[in-house]
Amino acid sequence: VPDGDEIVREDEKSKLVGNVFSSVASSYDVMNDLMSAGLHRLWKDRLISKLNPFPGMKHLDVAGGTGDVAFRVVERIKSVSHRAAQGTLTDMEEDTHIYVCDINPNMLEVGKKRAAEKGYNEEQCLSWVQGDAEALSFEDGSMDGYTIAFGIRNVTHIEKALSEAYRILKKGGRFLCLELSHVDVPIFKDIYDVYSFSVIPAVGELVAGDRQSYQYLVESIRRFPKQEKFAQMIQEAGFEAVEYENLVGGVVAIHSGVKL
Ligand code: SAM
Repeated sequence: VPDGDEIVREDEKSKLVGNVFSSVASSYDVMNDLMSAGLHRLWKDRLISKLNPFPGMKHLDVAGGTGDVAFRVVERIKSVSHRAAQGTLTDMEEDTHIYVCDINPNMLEVGKKRAAEKGYNEEQCLSWVQGDAEALSFEDGSMDGYTIAFGIRNVTHIEKALSEAYRILKKGGRFLCLELSHVDVPIFKDIYDVYSFSVIPAVGELVAGDRQSYQYLVESIRRFPKQEKFAQMIQEAGFEAVEYENLVGGVVAIHSGVKL
């Protein structure tokens, strides 16, 4: 049981995370492109390749923010359906459903607008749900897939989020997590440290007028468990066949596991 101090610190962390994403929501997509030099798009594409979405799938993207991962899942399923049936969106089929869950309504609002611009029909396959990764409102064994991209390091209790991921997946369901991680290539690590500690907060101030939020984002990367430790935590949540892939020397890692 956490002591009083810890409870206050946890409350403060949740509030801080809320404030950070409320304040960055409108500039979030531009900043993502700027700070990763567009690489986050390739990393998300890689996440989707590993997920291998299929028509009829029920998928939950947690900390889904402005919908980047969910849109890719929809597009991938559309392309599979198209190839299979030379078809149309009817082949997205009534069964296919992608849920975007995020704790922050401002991020979801930006996502909904983007969905409307893309012409996605919410009733058909995409739903936006405000909720906490640590206490999901979805039923046990209800999803074929779970993704979380650049989200789990912001969660107060990572173990709770992992155990919720395990709970809502069906047997055979897949967990995938894309997250900024730890570089251990010597010289590259030094360059990356300078970039993240100096350049990111400065660009945050210049473009989004918000140095503090981006300072927080950098610090949250440092505190996140290293690749091996995080893989162990995923295993401890009950997942099997746990593995990870480092991208760009560990700037980013994709962890995955299966519920058997
Ligand atoms: N997944 C999106 C992407 O890759 O573009 C958004 C990532 S953004 C860096 C992190 C998101 O995590 C924010 O939208 C934030 O609101 C959300 N978040 C933070 N804590 C959360 C929690 N406990 N439960 C659900 N979402 C959370």
